Amino acid sequence: MTETDEYGFATRAIHAGQDPDPRTGSVIVPIHATSTYAQDGVGGLRGGYEYSRTGNPTRSALEECLAALEGARHGRAFASGMAATDTALRTILRPGDHVVIPNDAYGGTFRLMDKVLARWGVEYTPVPLADVDAVRAAVRPTTRLLWVETPTNPLLHVADIALLAEVAHGADARLLVDNTFASPYLQSPLRQGADVVLHSTTKYIGGHSDVVGGALVTSDDELDAGFGFLQNAAGGVPGPFDAWLTLRGIKTLEVRMEKHSDNTERVTEALLRHPKVTHVYYPGLPEHPGHEIATKQMRRYGGMVSFTVEGGEEAALRVCSRTRLFTLAESLGGVESLIEHPGRMTHLSTAGSPLQVPADLVRISVGIESADDLIADLLAALS
Ligand SMILES: *Cc1c(COP(=O)(O)O)cnc(C)c1O
Repeated sequence: MTETDEYGFATRAIHAGQDPDPRTGSVIVPIHATSTYAQDGVGGLRGGYEYSRTGNPTRSALEECLAALEGARHGRAFASGMAATDTALRTILRPGDHVVIPNDAYGGTFRLMDKVLARWGVEYTPVPLADVDAVRAAVRPTTRLLWVETPTNPLLHVADIALLAEVAHGADARLLVDNTFASPYLQSPLRQGADVVLHSTTKYIGGHSDVVGGALVTSDDELDAGFGFLQNAAGGVPGPFDAWLTLRGIKTLEVRMEKHSDNTERVTEALLRHPKVTHVYYPGLPEHPGHEIATKQMRRYGGMVSFTVEGGEEAALRVCSRTRLFTLAESLGGVESLIEHPGRMTHLSTAGSPLQVPADLVRISVGIESADDLIADLLAALS
């Protein structure tokens, strides 16, 4: 199955790139644990493969599926979301170029820009992407890339992808969307005008907290050729077992995202009613400033919620340490619910900067357990 838009999302997730093995009939794509491939005479490749950094059939299956999920022509799989980020930045940008990034970008993305790319003469400006005038004002003649995350972490800010695509293309720049928080089921940035979609497949795409990976998806042949060149030249590729685990996770992406969204709506209602909860950050709420844009560009609102509690940092830390089903841990997007304190954990490095997050903030990744149990767990931890 290769046609990308002919089938519904769940069909693509289960079948794209995953035809039964022609030789054995194996219904599931085999784990091709091999570094090299026999040649029939010099240069006589049997299946187009010569060395597994360059290409591997299990990885090819994943790449074809990732492309199909975003309705795109090309997908590339990487060893991590950061390897994908590094490949995208170094393919699109040259010394002297400028990039606009979210002022609340994923911490690893900011670190790579600030500590690595900046040393090679790439300049960047952090901007609140929900403020399109601020984005326009930040664009320079040397701007080649607008890097978008929506919704963002941990305050769930929402950016208008279609509008930002216009801004980028008007400046002869590319628009990349880190679609990790939404997943390809809830949001299709390429259809909104983005040039590239990036995923940390570690999160919702893999979905089971058992594998680290990344992806770059595009319908632009030239960009994909550049990504493929650096994927092979720098070698940040996933092994065949990682590719297989990710593919196995993808098969249930639609049902998982529906259940994550159902559970999160229930959990959010319970949090809103609780007297000790002072604010709930969720784009599904009508009072969220990005609600209208989220409704326009997302199918549903996903499984990430943050909230503040009465009693400051101490109270927030107390909630994080008292849940029993919500595991205290970083990361997100798995079937199991997680809870964390951004100020002391994922966003510690923003302390003292303008990006500092509220000390009384708690972030949860709502899993797909029984909603009643999750609500009872949170209420007990808040009591
Ligand atoms: C986790 C994450 C990344 C980095 O991905 P890794 O797989 O951890 O390297 C990038 N962007 C976002 C939004 C993430 O949540």
